[in-house]
Amino acid sequence: MLLWQRLKHAPRRGCLLLAVGLSLVVAAGTYFGLKFYSGGHSNSLHPIRRWFTEPAARAELTTAMRQQTCPGAPFILPSDGLIGLLWNDPAGPYTVLNTHSGLDIFGDGAPGEVPVYAAYDGYLSRLPDWKASVIIRHDDPLQPGRTIWTYYTHMASRDGARSFIAADFPPGASEIPVEQGRLLGFQGEYAGNSPAPVGLHLHFSIVLADASGAFLNEARIGNTLDPSPYLGMPLNIAGLPERPIGCRP
Ligand SMILES: [Zn+2]
Repeated sequence: MLLWQRLKHAPRRGCLLLAVGLSLVVAAGTYFGLKFYSGGHSNSLHPIRRWFTEPAARAELTTAMRQQTCPGAPFILPSDGLIGLLWNDPAGPYTVLNTHSGLDIFGDGAPGEVPVYAAYDGYLSRLPDWKASVIIRHDDPLQPGRTIWTYYTHMASRDGARSFIAADFPPGASEIPVEQGRLLGFQGEYAGNSPAPVGLHLHFSIVLADASGAFLNEARIGNTLDPSPYLGMPLNIAGLPERPIGCRP
């Protein structure tokens, strides 16, 4: 039976097909519209693309703080490289409805070679099933008395078989005192079960605590803080800063 005959004889199914078709069109329109709209609110994809396609451009895109703080800022940048995705960034694969909660710092080197340092003094933990991540509890230097956390991830090989976290911090490590600048590990490419390669980088975020002091889910932007005042750099995508990003004048 041809489709139109089927539709004629089964109007309910026809309505359903029409509804499904319309929903697909609406979904596709929303998806591409959102992508287009989100792209207009970020300037991050161009330098990231250059980083991976023009290795000669890496030097001019790199923020190399070498463990120095910006004037008046409490945190050091935890790794050197292109600060590609910024805080609240809607650039793909994120969108305006699901923005990036931290910084993606793309280091120049092979997996396991680009060092990652503690941004500030605190107490480090690594959950037993964390292959590529550590988190550090701090007394907030900008709001003393408040607990905040800094989170560092992607520190393992793409398949997760090799961890690049320093041997001092094995799985299950809890509340180990660390000083600013302590070596935590090295940048990697591990991104869980994500099918698409993410490229070598460190994801770094500043995470809020719940009433008991435990860290909240860092993937939600509302659970994180704008790192700009902590690092003394323009790191909020709202300002569309040019790369490489430096200290605020
Ligand atoms: Zn990230």
